[in-house]
Amino acid sequence: MAKLFGTNGIRGVFGKDLTLELALKVSYALGVYYNDGKVIVGYDGRNSNTILSRIVRAGINSIGLDTVDAGLIPTPCLQYATKSLNYKGGVMITASHNPPEYNGIKVMESDGIELSRDNELRIEDIYFNKNFRYSTKIGKDEQIEVTRNYIDGIKSMVDIEKIKKRNFKVVLDLGNGAQAVTAPQLLRELGCKVIMINENIDGSFPGRGSEPTLDNLQQLSESVRKEEADIGVAYDGDGDRSIFCDEYGNITAGDRSGAILLEHVISKYKGTIVTPINSSVIIDIIAEKYGCKVIKTKVGSVEVSRKMAESNAIAGLEENGGFMYGKHIAVRDGAMSTALMLEAILEERYSQLINRLPKYYSYKTKFPCSKEKASKIINSLIEEGERVDTLDGVKIWIDDDSWIMVRLSGTEPIIRLYAEAKDKLKLEKIINEYKGKISRLLG
Ligand code: MG
Repeated sequence: MAKLFGTNGIRGVFGKDLTLELALKVSYALGVYYNDGKVIVGYDGRNSNTILSRIVRAGINSIGLDTVDAGLIPTPCLQYATKSLNYKGGVMITASHNPPEYNGIKVMESDGIELSRDNELRIEDIYFNKNFRYSTKIGKDEQIEVTRNYIDGIKSMVDIEKIKKRNFKVVLDLGNGAQAVTAPQLLRELGCKVIMINENIDGSFPGRGSEPTLDNLQQLSESVRKEEADIGVAYDGDGDRSIFCDEYGNITAGDRSGAILLEHVISKYKGTIVTPINSSVIIDIIAEKYGCKVIKTKVGSVEVSRKMAESNAIAGLEENGGFMYGKHIAVRDGAMSTALMLEAILEERYSQLINRLPKYYSYKTKFPCSKEKASKIINSLIEEGERVDTLDGVKIWIDDDSWIMVRLSGTEPIIRLYAEAKDKLKLEKIINEYKGKISRLLG
Protein backbone atom coordinates (compact mmCIF):
# COMPACT_ATOMS: atom_id res chain seq x y z
CA MET A 1 0.00 0.00 0.00
CA ALA A 2 1.21 3.49 -0.84
CA LYS A 3 1.87 5.90 2.02
CA LEU A 4 0.00 9.06 2.79
CA PHE A 5 1.67 10.08 6.03
CA GLY A 6 5.35 11.03 6.33
CA THR A 7 7.32 11.65 9.53
CA ASN A 8 5.11 14.57 10.40
CA GLY A 9 1.67 14.25 8.84
CA ILE A 10 0.73 14.53 5.18
CA ARG A 11 3.05 17.01 3.50
CA GLY A 12 3.87 18.09 -0.05
CA VAL A 13 4.09 20.90 -2.58
CA PHE A 14 0.66 22.51 -2.74
CA GLY A 15 -1.14 21.85 -6.03
CA LYS A 16 1.41 19.25 -7.11
CA ASP A 17 1.69 16.54 -4.40
CA LEU A 18 -0.85 18.04 -2.06
CA THR A 19 -3.80 18.74 -4.38
CA LEU A 20 -7.27 19.89 -3.36
CA GLU A 21 -8.58 16.55 -4.59
CA LEU A 22 -6.23 14.70 -2.24
CA ALA A 23 -7.10 17.00 0.66
CA LEU A 24 -10.82 16.39 0.08
CA LYS A 25 -10.42 12.61 0.03
CA VAL A 26 -8.19 12.73 3.11
CA SER A 27 -10.90 14.69 4.92
CA TYR A 28 -13.54 12.10 3.96
CA ALA A 29 -11.23 9.49 5.48
CA LEU A 30 -10.79 11.66 8.59
CA GLY A 31 -14.57 11.99 8.96
CA VAL A 32 -14.96 8.21 8.77
CA TYR A 33 -12.05 7.70 11.18
CA TYR A 34 -13.33 10.16 13.81
CA ASN A 35 -16.83 8.76 13.28
CA ASP A 36 -18.64 11.25 15.52
CA GLY A 37 -18.11 14.35 17.64
CA LYS A 38 -16.72 17.74 16.64
CA VAL A 39 -13.38 18.34 14.93
CA ILE A 40 -11.39 21.56 15.31
CA VAL A 41 -9.42 22.84 12.30
CA GLY A 42 -6.69 25.49 12.34
CA TYR A 43 -4.06 26.78 9.94
CA ASP A 44 -0.77 28.67 10.02
CA GLY A 45 0.22 31.57 7.77
CA ARG A 46 0.85 29.79 4.47
CA ASN A 47 -0.77 31.18 1.31
CA SER A 48 -2.70 28.00 0.50
CA ASN A 49 -4.00 27.59 4.05
CA THR A 50 -7.52 28.98 4.04
CA ILE A 51 -8.37 27.11 0.85
CA LEU A 52 -7.17 23.83 2.39
CA SER A 53 -8.96 24.53 5.67
CA ARG A 54 -12.24 25.12 3.83
CA ILE A 55 -11.85 21.91 1.83
CA VAL A 56 -10.98 19.86 4.92
CA ARG A 57 -13.91 21.21 6.93
CA ALA A 58 -16.32 20.70 4.00
CA GLY A 59 -15.10 17.12 3.53
CA ILE A 60 -15.55 16.29 7.23
CA ASN A 61 -19.00 17.99 7.25
CA SER A 62 -20.08 15.91 4.26
CA ILE A 63 -19.46 12.75 6.33
CA GLY A 64 -21.92 14.18 8.87
CA LEU A 65 -19.51 15.53 11.54
CA ASP A 66 -19.49 19.10 12.83
CA THR A 67 -16.34 21.21 12.59
CA VAL A 68 -15.08 24.42 14.15
CA ASP A 69 -12.80 26.83 12.33
CA ALA A 70 -10.12 28.10 14.72
CA GLY A 71 -8.52 30.30 12.04
CA LEU A 72 -4.85 31.27 11.93
CA ILE A 73 -3.08 29.95 15.03
CA PRO A 74 0.19 28.18 15.92
CA THR A 75 0.12 24.36 15.83
CA PRO A 76 0.49 23.99 19.65
CA CYS A 77 -2.50 26.34 20.13
CA LEU A 78 -4.66 24.00 18.01
CA GLN A 79 -3.29 20.98 19.86
CA TYR A 80 -3.97 22.50 23.27
CA ALA A 81 -7.52 23.48 22.21
CA THR A 82 -8.20 19.95 20.94
CA LYS A 83 -7.25 18.51 24.33
CA SER A 84 -8.53 21.14 26.74
CA LEU A 85 -11.83 21.92 24.95
CA ASN A 86 -12.61 18.22 24.44
CA TYR A 87 -12.79 17.90 20.68
CA LYS A 88 -12.96 14.49 19.04
CA GLY A 89 -9.93 15.45 16.99
CA GLY A 90 -7.92 18.32 15.60
CA VAL A 91 -6.57 19.07 12.15
CA MET A 92 -3.81 21.58 11.50
CA ILE A 93 -3.04 22.86 8.01
CA THR A 94 0.70 23.45 8.17
CA ALA A 95 4.02 22.50 6.64
CA SER A 96 5.89 23.72 9.74
CA HIS A 97 9.33 24.94 8.66
CA ASN A 98 9.25 23.68 5.04
CA PRO A 99 9.73 26.15 2.14
CA PRO A 100 6.73 28.35 1.10
CA GLU A 101 5.49 26.11 -1.74
CA TYR A 102 4.77 23.29 0.73
CA ASN A 103 1.73 22.65 2.81
CA GLY A 104 0.45 19.79 4.91
CA ILE A 105 -2.32 18.22 6.96
CA LYS A 106 -1.45 17.27 10.50
CA VAL A 107 -3.99 15.10 12.31
CA MET A 108 -4.51 15.03 16.07
CA GLU A 109 -6.31 12.63 18.39
CA SER A 110 -8.59 13.94 21.17
CA ASP A 111 -5.53 14.27 23.46
CA GLY A 112 -4.09 16.88 21.08
CA ILE A 113 -1.17 14.68 20.06
CA GLU A 114 -0.60 13.57 16.47
CA LEU A 115 -1.90 10.15 15.49
CA SER A 116 0.09 7.06 16.32
CA ARG A 117 1.50 5.20 13.31
CA ASP A 118 -1.16 2.48 13.79
CA ASN A 119 -3.97 4.99 13.46
CA GLU A 120 -2.27 6.61 10.47
CA LEU A 121 -2.45 3.16 8.88
CA ARG A 122 -6.16 2.97 9.68
CA ILE A 123 -6.74 6.29 7.89
CA GLU A 124 -4.59 5.18 4.95
CA ASP A 125 -6.67 2.02 4.77
CA ILE A 126 -9.93 4.03 4.63
CA TYR A 127 -8.39 6.38 2.05
CA PHE A 128 -6.91 3.83 -0.34
CA ASN A 129 -9.91 1.47 -0.15
CA LYS A 130 -12.27 4.46 -0.55
CA ASN A 131 -14.33 3.33 2.43
CA PHE A 132 -16.02 6.71 2.55
CA ARG A 133 -19.41 6.83 4.20
CA TYR A 134 -21.37 9.75 2.86
CA SER A 135 -24.06 11.01 5.15
CA THR A 136 -27.53 12.39 4.54
CA LYS A 137 -26.92 14.61 7.55
CA ILE A 138 -24.53 17.45 6.74
CA GLY A 139 -22.33 18.58 9.64
CA LYS A 140 -22.27 22.21 10.76
CA ASP A 141 -19.25 24.49 10.65
CA GLU A 142 -18.78 27.42 13.02
CA GLN A 143 -15.96 29.76 14.00
CA ILE A 144 -14.20 29.75 17.33
CA GLU A 145 -11.52 31.85 19.03
CA VAL A 146 -8.99 29.74 20.95
CA THR A 147 -5.98 31.98 21.50
CA ARG A 148 -7.26 33.17 24.91
CA ASN A 149 -7.64 29.56 26.05
CA TYR A 150 -4.05 28.86 24.92
CA ILE A 151 -2.46 31.93 26.52
CA ASP A 152 -4.31 31.30 29.81
CA GLY A 153 -3.29 27.63 29.72
CA ILE A 154 0.39 28.57 29.43
CA LYS A 155 0.13 31.24 32.14
CA SER A 156 -1.35 28.66 34.52
CA MET A 157 1.89 26.65 34.21
CA VAL A 158 4.31 29.36 35.41
CA ASP A 159 4.75 31.75 38.33
CA ILE A 160 3.21 34.84 36.73
CA GLU A 161 3.90 37.21 39.62
CA LYS A 162 7.60 36.36 39.88
CA ILE A 163 8.06 36.73 36.12
CA LYS A 164 6.17 40.04 36.06
CA LYS A 165 8.41 41.44 38.80
CA ARG A 166 11.49 40.96 36.65
CA ASN A 167 10.18 43.21 33.82
CA PHE A 168 12.08 41.17 31.27
CA LYS A 169 12.99 42.67 27.93
CA VAL A 170 12.56 40.03 25.22
CA VAL A 171 13.25 40.14 21.49
CA LEU A 172 10.97 37.85 19.51
CA ASP A 173 11.89 36.80 15.99
CA LEU A 174 8.50 35.60 14.80
CA GLY A 175 9.89 34.50 11.42
CA ASN A 176 6.69 35.70 9.64
CA GLY A 177 5.03 32.71 11.28
CA ALA A 178 1.97 31.88 13.34
CA GLN A 179 3.34 32.57 16.87
CA ALA A 180 2.86 36.23 15.94
CA VAL A 181 -0.80 35.84 16.99
CA THR A 182 -0.03 34.54 20.49
CA ALA A 183 3.57 34.79 21.77
CA PRO A 184 3.83 38.64 21.89
CA GLN A 185 0.49 38.85 23.74
CA LEU A 186 1.53 36.12 26.20
CA LEU A 187 4.80 37.89 26.98
CA ARG A 188 3.14 41.28 27.44
CA GLU A 189 0.76 39.61 29.91
CA LEU A 190 3.84 38.29 31.72
CA GLY A 191 5.01 41.87 32.15
CA CYS A 192 7.70 41.75 29.47
CA LYS A 193 8.77 44.53 27.19
CA VAL A 194 8.51 42.86 23.79
CA ILE A 195 10.55 43.84 20.74
CA MET A 196 9.44 42.09 17.57
CA ILE A 197 11.19 41.28 14.34
CA ASN A 198 9.68 39.56 11.26
CA GLU A 199 6.30 39.93 12.96
CA ASN A 200 4.14 40.20 9.84
CA ILE A 201 2.60 36.84 9.03
CA ASP A 202 3.57 36.05 5.46
CA GLY A 203 3.45 32.64 3.78
CA SER A 204 6.44 33.49 1.57
CA PHE A 205 8.60 33.89 4.74
CA PRO A 206 10.50 36.96 3.43
CA GLY A 207 12.39 37.56 6.72
CA ARG A 208 14.82 34.76 7.54
CA GLY A 209 12.87 31.79 6.17
CA SER A 210 10.52 29.56 8.13
CA GLU A 211 13.13 27.51 10.01
CA PRO A 212 15.24 29.17 12.71
CA THR A 213 18.80 27.84 12.50
CA LEU A 214 22.15 28.75 14.02
CA ASP A 215 23.03 30.54 10.77
CA ASN A 216 20.01 32.71 9.96
CA LEU A 217 19.33 34.56 13.22
CA GLN A 218 21.83 37.45 12.92
CA GLN A 219 19.01 39.99 13.10
CA LEU A 220 17.79 38.49 16.37
CA SER A 221 21.30 38.46 17.74
CA GLU A 222 21.95 42.12 16.79
CA SER A 223 18.62 43.25 18.15
CA VAL A 224 19.18 41.54 21.52
CA ARG A 225 22.57 43.30 21.85
CA LYS A 226 21.32 46.69 20.70
CA GLU A 227 18.23 46.64 22.93
CA GLU A 228 20.17 45.14 25.85
CA ALA A 229 17.44 42.53 26.13
CA ASP A 230 17.48 39.67 28.64
CA ILE A 231 16.88 37.02 26.01
CA GLY A 232 15.91 36.49 22.37
CA VAL A 233 13.64 33.81 20.94
CA ALA A 234 12.97 32.66 17.37
CA TYR A 235 10.10 30.40 16.28
CA ASP A 236 9.53 28.24 13.24
CA GLY A 237 6.64 28.79 10.81
CA ASP A 238 3.95 27.07 12.87
CA GLY A 239 5.34 28.09 16.26
CA ASP A 240 6.11 24.77 17.88
CA ARG A 241 9.90 25.07 17.90
CA SER A 242 11.92 27.76 19.63
CA ILE A 243 15.59 28.74 19.40
CA PHE A 244 17.03 31.02 22.09
CA CYS A 245 19.69 33.73 22.09
CA ASP A 246 21.57 34.87 25.19
CA GLU A 247 21.89 38.50 26.35
CA TYR A 248 25.19 38.87 24.43
CA GLY A 249 23.53 37.82 21.16
CA ASN A 250 24.90 34.27 21.09
CA ILE A 251 22.44 31.87 19.46
CA THR A 252 22.30 28.61 21.39
CA ALA A 253 21.66 25.17 19.88
CA GLY A 254 18.30 23.57 20.60
CA ASP A 255 19.77 20.77 22.69
CA ARG A 256 21.43 23.29 25.02
CA SER A 257 18.35 25.48 25.55
CA GLY A 258 16.36 22.24 25.90
CA ALA A 259 18.76 21.05 28.60
CA ILE A 260 18.14 24.26 30.57
CA LEU A 261 14.36 23.92 30.27
CA LEU A 262 14.68 20.27 31.25
CA GLU A 263 16.70 21.02 34.37
CA HIS A 264 14.29 23.80 35.30
CA VAL A 265 11.32 21.43 35.06
CA ILE A 266 12.79 18.33 36.72
CA SER A 267 14.35 20.29 39.58
CA LYS A 268 10.71 20.98 40.56
CA TYR A 269 8.90 17.85 39.39
CA LYS A 270 10.67 14.51 39.12
CA GLY A 271 9.43 12.31 36.31
CA THR A 272 10.23 10.41 33.16
CA ILE A 273 12.00 12.18 30.30
CA VAL A 274 11.57 11.20 26.65
CA THR A 275 14.04 12.16 23.93
CA PRO A 276 15.14 10.78 20.54
CA ILE A 277 18.23 8.65 20.21
CA ASN A 278 20.19 11.48 18.53
CA SER A 279 19.97 13.78 21.59
CA SER A 280 23.00 14.99 23.51
CA VAL A 281 24.65 13.05 26.34
CA ILE A 282 23.93 16.20 28.40
CA ILE A 283 20.30 15.07 28.75
CA ASP A 284 21.41 11.82 30.40
CA ILE A 285 23.79 13.68 32.71
CA ILE A 286 21.04 16.09 33.89
CA ALA A 287 18.51 13.26 34.27
CA GLU A 288 20.96 11.29 36.40
CA LYS A 289 21.58 14.30 38.64
CA TYR A 290 17.86 14.39 39.56
CA GLY A 291 17.33 10.62 39.50
CA CYS A 292 15.00 10.74 36.49
CA LYS A 293 14.56 7.97 33.96
CA VAL A 294 15.23 8.71 30.26
CA ILE A 295 13.39 6.86 27.50
CA LYS A 296 14.97 7.04 24.03
CA THR A 297 12.85 6.94 20.88
CA LYS A 298 13.34 7.06 17.13
CA VAL A 299 13.88 10.55 15.73
CA GLY A 300 10.62 12.49 15.26
CA SER A 301 8.43 14.57 17.52
CA VAL A 302 5.44 12.24 17.20
CA GLU A 303 7.55 9.35 18.54
CA VAL A 304 8.47 11.48 21.54
CA SER A 305 4.95 12.81 22.17
CA ARG A 306 3.27 9.39 21.94
CA LYS A 307 5.88 7.85 24.27
CA MET A 308 5.38 10.74 26.70
CA ALA A 309 1.64 10.13 26.79
CA GLU A 310 2.19 6.41 27.30
CA SER A 311 4.67 6.90 30.15
CA ASN A 312 3.00 10.01 31.61
CA ALA A 313 6.34 11.79 31.23
CA ILE A 314 7.15 15.21 32.67
CA ALA A 315 9.23 16.42 29.70
CA GLY A 316 10.29 15.59 26.18
CA LEU A 317 12.87 17.27 23.99
CA GLU A 318 14.48 17.27 20.57
CA GLU A 319 17.82 18.73 19.49
CA ASN A 320 16.09 21.04 16.95
CA GLY A 321 14.47 23.29 19.56
CA GLY A 322 11.37 21.23 20.25
CA PHE A 323 10.49 21.12 23.95
CA MET A 324 7.44 19.39 25.42
CA TYR A 325 6.15 20.07 28.91
CA GLY A 326 4.06 17.12 30.07
CA LYS A 327 1.98 19.09 32.58
CA HIS A 328 0.81 21.42 29.78
CA ILE A 329 0.54 19.10 26.79
CA ALA A 330 2.97 16.47 25.48
CA VAL A 331 3.71 18.32 22.23
CA ARG A 332 6.34 20.86 21.20
CA ASP A 333 5.24 24.37 22.07
CA GLY A 334 7.29 27.48 21.32
CA ALA A 335 5.27 29.83 23.55
CA MET A 336 5.15 27.41 26.50
CA SER A 337 8.93 26.95 26.17
CA THR A 338 9.41 30.73 26.22
CA ALA A 339 7.34 31.16 29.40
CA LEU A 340 9.26 28.33 31.08
CA MET A 341 12.56 29.88 30.00
CA LEU A 342 11.59 33.21 31.62
CA GLU A 343 10.90 31.30 34.83
CA ALA A 344 14.27 29.54 34.48
CA ILE A 345 16.13 32.87 34.24
CA LEU A 346 14.47 34.58 37.22
CA GLU A 347 17.64 34.39 39.29
CA GLU A 348 20.44 33.80 36.83
CA ARG A 349 21.09 35.10 33.35
CA TYR A 350 20.58 32.80 30.40
CA SER A 351 24.29 32.88 29.46
CA GLN A 352 25.25 31.78 33.00
CA LEU A 353 22.92 28.79 32.80
CA ILE A 354 24.31 27.89 29.37
CA ASN A 355 27.91 28.15 30.63
CA ARG A 356 27.16 25.83 33.52
CA LEU A 357 26.03 22.97 31.23
CA PRO A 358 28.50 20.11 30.74
CA LYS A 359 30.81 20.93 27.81
CA TYR A 360 30.09 18.85 24.73
CA TYR A 361 30.60 19.58 21.06
CA SER A 362 28.04 18.43 18.53
CA TYR A 363 27.69 18.45 14.79
CA LYS A 364 25.05 17.60 12.22
CA THR A 365 24.95 17.57 8.45
CA LYS A 366 23.10 15.92 5.58
CA PHE A 367 23.91 14.28 2.25
CA PRO A 368 21.60 13.72 -0.74
CA CYS A 369 21.11 9.97 -0.94
CA SER A 370 18.64 7.42 -2.31
CA LYS A 371 16.82 5.06 0.05
CA GLU A 372 18.70 2.05 -1.36
CA LYS A 373 22.13 3.64 -0.93
CA ALA A 374 21.19 4.81 2.56
CA SER A 375 20.36 1.28 3.71
CA LYS A 376 23.61 0.06 2.16
CA ILE A 377 25.59 2.67 4.10
CA ILE A 378 23.72 2.02 7.35
CA ASN A 379 24.07 -1.76 7.05
CA SER A 380 27.78 -1.56 6.38
CA LEU A 381 28.27 0.75 9.40
CA ILE A 382 26.26 -1.65 11.58
CA GLU A 383 28.48 -4.52 10.46
CA GLU A 384 31.77 -2.81 11.20
CA GLY A 385 30.72 -1.06 14.46
CA GLU A 386 31.44 -2.49 17.89
CA ARG A 387 29.01 -0.66 20.17
CA VAL A 388 26.03 0.02 17.92
CA ASP A 389 22.42 0.98 18.56
CA THR A 390 19.98 0.33 15.70
CA LEU A 391 16.81 1.94 17.06
CA ASP A 392 16.88 4.46 14.19
CA GLY A 393 19.50 4.07 11.45
CA VAL A 394 22.78 3.42 13.25
CA LYS A 395 24.33 5.07 16.28
CA ILE A 396 27.92 4.07 16.93
CA TRP A 397 29.47 4.76 20.32
CA ILE A 398 33.17 5.56 19.93
CA ASP A 399 33.52 5.64 23.74
CA ASP A 400 31.28 6.68 26.68
CA ASP A 401 31.39 10.35 25.70
CA SER A 402 31.41 10.31 21.92
CA TRP A 403 29.19 8.89 19.25
CA ILE A 404 28.19 9.25 15.62
CA MET A 405 24.80 8.51 14.09
CA VAL A 406 23.58 8.06 10.50
CA ARG A 407 19.92 7.79 9.50
CA LEU A 408 17.66 8.18 6.50
CA SER A 409 15.41 11.25 6.64
CA GLY A 410 11.69 10.49 6.84
CA THR A 411 10.76 13.52 4.74
CA GLU A 412 13.49 13.98 2.09
CA PRO A 413 15.85 11.72 0.05
CA ILE A 414 18.83 12.52 2.27
CA ILE A 415 20.82 10.88 5.01
CA ARG A 416 21.51 12.80 8.17
CA LEU A 417 24.71 12.53 10.15
CA TYR A 418 24.96 13.54 13.81
CA ALA A 419 27.98 13.39 16.09
CA GLU A 420 28.95 14.46 19.60
CA ALA A 421 32.18 14.43 21.61
CA LYS A 422 33.62 16.01 24.73
CA ASP A 423 36.63 17.27 22.83
CA LYS A 424 36.54 19.48 19.73
CA LEU A 425 39.50 17.85 17.98
CA LYS A 426 38.12 14.41 18.64
CA LEU A 427 34.77 15.45 17.18
CA GLU A 428 36.51 16.68 14.02
CA LYS A 429 38.45 13.46 13.73
CA ILE A 430 35.28 11.34 14.05
CA ILE A 431 33.39 13.47 11.52
CA ASN A 432 36.19 13.32 8.95
CA GLU A 433 36.57 9.59 9.34
CA TYR A 434 32.86 8.89 8.86
CA LYS A 435 32.35 11.48 6.12
CA GLY A 436 35.13 9.68 4.24
CA LYS A 437 33.48 6.30 4.78
CA ILE A 438 30.11 7.61 3.61
CA SER A 439 31.55 9.24 0.46
CA ARG A 440 33.32 5.99 -0.43
CA LEU A 441 30.08 4.05 0.07
CA LEU A 442 28.12 6.64 -1.93
CA GLY A 443 30.71 6.06 -4.65
MG1 MG B 1 7.03 23.31 13.40
